Amino acid sequence: MSIAANIEGIREQIDVACRGVGRDPSGITLLAVCKQQPPETVGAAVVAGLRHLGENRVEEAVTKIPQVQSCVAEPIVWHMVGHIQSRKARQIPGLFQMVHAVDRLNLARRLSALMHERGDTLDVLLEINVSGEASKAGFNAFGWQEDAELRARLWQDCETLLGFPGLRVCGLMTMAPIAPDMETTRPVFRQLAALRAALARDLGVPLPELSMGMTDDFPVAVEEGATIVRIGRAIFGPRRENEK
Ligand SMILES: *Cc1c(COP(=O)(O)O)cnc(C)c1O
Repeated sequence: MSIAANIEGIREQIDVACRGVGRDPSGITLLAVCKQQPPETVGAAVVAGLRHLGENRVEEAVTKIPQVQSCVAEPIVWHMVGHIQSRKARQIPGLFQMVHAVDRLNLARRLSALMHERGDTLDVLLEINVSGEASKAGFNAFGWQEDAELRARLWQDCETLLGFPGLRVCGLMTMAPIAPDMETTRPVFRQLAALRAALARDLGVPLPELSMGMTDDFPVAVEEGATIVRIGRAIFGPRRENEK
């Protein structure tokens, strides 16, 4: 299958999912996660119409983003979807326009200082650990609807983040647990959407974006309100073994 045909197939699945729940497909950004893909392959996705590209490792992005930019004329919005080590934070401004995995206050503080210094603003999403899996990064939100103490802490962290200059907090992101089928994942997406609505209401901010859904589960994520789906393998094919 060609990349263009893969993208067309994904768009059709997004359309079907939208139709099922009465959403407008234009409200969903298809983000191509192009980690491990060579610049020419990424270029083919741009030629096929995609303008939002994502990377998950700073080292790879530093060399690849300029390479991709040099072979396409279209303006690209670059998204950092992976975990960011604190010492790599200084490489983010200027390279990426949106960071999906702000998973701790310290990282936000660093990015804020760097952006403030540049007199510029970075779009960020807060990574939320909805399922409570210990292996997952992100602000802990497991059981937030029942646990008032946890909720108070989380709300406080969000307020702190909203006060950081140079960052525009656009919404929430989550990595769903690996599951045997999409339906298993649905409650995680539903929880993230509910959390977004509760935070937006209580803190009086729009938080328009919900980054959720990948190759194995994006139709369900769209049904549950995703505004950005992060897709790698369904566009580019399988990656090498042993790498995420
Ligand atoms: C790799 C990756 C994706 C895309 O995964 P696929 O299963 O290939 O669609 C999405 N989000 C993050 C954070 C990733 O690292």
